[in-house]
Amino acid sequence: MGKRSSGAGTPDGRAELEALRRRTSELNRRILDLLSERARVVIEVRKVKERHAIDLFSPGREAEMLEDLVSANPGPFPDDTIRHLFREVFRASLGLMEGEAETSLRVARKPGEPDAVIRVGGQGLPARAIGAAPVVIAGPCAVEDEEQVEAVAAELARLGVGFIRGGAFKPRTSPYAFQGLGARGLGILAAAARRHGLATVTEVVDTRSVDLVARHADVVQVGSRNMANYELLKALGSTRKPVLLKRGFAATLDELLLAAEYLASAGNEDVILCERGVRTFARETRFTLDISAVPLLKRMTRLPVVVDVSHSAGRRDILPSLARAALAAGAHGVMVEVHPDPALARSDAQQQLDFAAFRELLASLAPLWTPAPRGRRGR
Ligand code: PEP
Ligand code: MN
Repeated sequence: MGKRSSGAGTPDGRAELEALRRRTSELNRRILDLLSERARVVIEVRKVKERHAIDLFSPGREAEMLEDLVSANPGPFPDDTIRHLFREVFRASLGLMEGEAETSLRVARKPGEPDAVIRVGGQGLPARAIGAAPVVIAGPCAVEDEEQVEAVAAELARLGVGFIRGGAFKPRTSPYAFQGLGARGLGILAAAARRHGLATVTEVVDTRSVDLVARHADVVQVGSRNMANYELLKALGSTRKPVLLKRGFAATLDELLLAAEYLASAGNEDVILCERGVRTFARETRFTLDISAVPLLKRMTRLPVVVDVSHSAGRRDILPSLARAALAAGAHGVMVEVHPDPALARSDAQQQLDFAAFRELLASLAPLWTPAPRGRRGR
């Protein structure tokens, strides 16, 4: 056994160690410079790959680089250690490529970028916008007949609500359920809306009817069941009407944003996102309103975010609380189903509000939402 040392070593030993430590620190800096230089080259590679539509990940190329490094390995690190170290470098580089691609989404919020304000309407309609002051979008689940839509439109206009919704094409879970009035329903909705100075929101369910729906609607809705219908999204890219894109009821927020990116990259950046509840184990509500989606989406994107409380809950009694929660969380609007006689509704009878309950809901939203003065800038 050697002599016990105090642990501080001799002055010579300390000086020698200090010199070696300085060298390792210098080498760390050189490795860092080289890694940073390599990362800048990787970003250049990504740009070339994007320009020429080449896959970002190339497994063959990684294997080739690893073999090249192992064959040049001078030691003392064993080959496996070299493989392990460089695999980490490659993984970080791929992350950089994909991460860069992610933040360059057209719909992503760039640092400091303000909320997008989407203008709606035209043709004699008071100027309306979604993305600034909160809006209410209300109306029946489905367009059923002239009298029903006229009654709702008159009531909305009287209450200072600027947007009427109503499905003419209905995506129903059962093929035997009422599928909507189709083209006739679009005409009924548009006519009532024009009579009362309202903007319309109505759903398109397939690529064949994109032109027809976009001609009649002020805002074209893509339903939850169609969020991932990428051909439909691409077709909607060429319409000049804003699109209200509902979150698929089993979709993540990333998937919703990528669906919005389909619209934006196909030419239509006027997209309004709609949280409408997701499927969970809860049985008390039809879906579960994911309120955290509101602030999260607002961080991720500049696009307006609205919340459909009716389809989230599938029941009437808690709608005022959910609508208040949505606006308090920062939503740019709420969507609510309203019907002159919900018990007789041909779809979603259990969740539509009658006029009295709707008036109570609106009253409960003050001061988060206030009615638009009639004939002036609508909300
Ligand atoms: C609707 O708003 O009419 C509708 C069908 O809703 P969702 O697509 O959210 O189910
Ligand atoms: Mn409905």
